[in-house]
Amino acid sequence: MRGHSASPAPGRGSNFKVVVRVRPPIPRELDGGQYVNVTKVNDDSKVITISENLTGDRGDEPAIYSKHMFTFDHVYNQDSDQRTIYENTAREAVLSTLEGYNATVMAYGQTGSGKTYTMEGYQGEERRGIIPRSVEEIFANIQSGASENKKYLVRASYLQIYNKQITDLLDPARGHLQIREDKKRGVFVEDLSEWVVRSPSEVYHLIGKGSAERATGETRMNYMSSRSHAIFIIICEQCETVPLPPDAQADPSKEPQQNVKIGKLNLVDLAGSERVRDTGATGSRLQESTNINSSLCILGNVIAALTDSKPRTYIPY
Ligand code: ADP
Ligand code: MG
Repeated sequence: MRGHSASPAPGRGSNFKVVVRVRPPIPRELDGGQYVNVTKVNDDSKVITISENLTGDRGDEPAIYSKHMFTFDHVYNQDSDQRTIYENTAREAVLSTLEGYNATVMAYGQTGSGKTYTMEGYQGEERRGIIPRSVEEIFANIQSGASENKKYLVRASYLQIYNKQITDLLDPARGHLQIREDKKRGVFVEDLSEWVVRSPSEVYHLIGKGSAERATGETRMNYMSSRSHAIFIIICEQCETVPLPPDAQADPSKEPQQNVKIGKLNLVDLAGSERVRDTGATGSRLQESTNINSSLCILGNVIAALTDSKPRTYIPY
């Protein structure tokens, strides 16, 4: 999962966070009796050690292990819950969008690693993932922050990228969308529909509609969701009217000043990062994998460039 603000949010620490979540084994994996835990999370929750038994069971002979250690902003072990992950890792990015910053939370990993579980999940407090928690936090903040002089407008979009094609999941008639960039709007998807939402339940209604759209066609939901990137976008617009000082209020030539802040939150469930060698894909499946891998590779390069300790002038978007 990676969080990113478009411009530095003062006092919010680093603009990027990379965290890892180890999921618990699922029943299917425990069934065969073959399950071995190869991960260990250090006490400070920053380092994960993966150990691989290179020799298998050699009876009385000790096995030989290869060990690799990786350091992250945080490593969540298999007991971590959805709430902790949201509060420690996503919340800051979500709140910054209410202040007019752009932020992105993305889940990256191979199919079955728990991306969708972490991002989605709508039933029950325990299972609610980052998307519903973000949506609820946004509306709760708006409810407590809105006033006569401070108004909010929230809009949502939902899109899918499959084989380099961008589809609007909330208005499927708009196929083959293009990515554009201009000075005023930054990077955006041209003609992507935006829907005004007034409550979490209106957002869930849209997500339901988009997910149903995602599941249609000859491909099954599971298959499709692991082979395409899905981006749910929430745009928060805050308009604050600064009242005129009392002595200017009677002056018809003076108008109160309006401060507008717009922040965009991208919640991304990426396609699985399978290695072609492991999946044995051929033909159109191989083309699909190639597109997924090239997009994930470009994404990796962009993030590496943005997080480079030496500031770079060119970012390979
Ligand atoms: P992905 O979206 O990366 O392909 P999923 O989110 O669909 O993976 O997760 C694969 C399976 O593992 C699902 O059955 C899901 O319910 C389960 N799972 C994932 N993460 C967890 C977790 N933290 N705790 C319990 N079960 C999990
Ligand atoms: Mg998934």
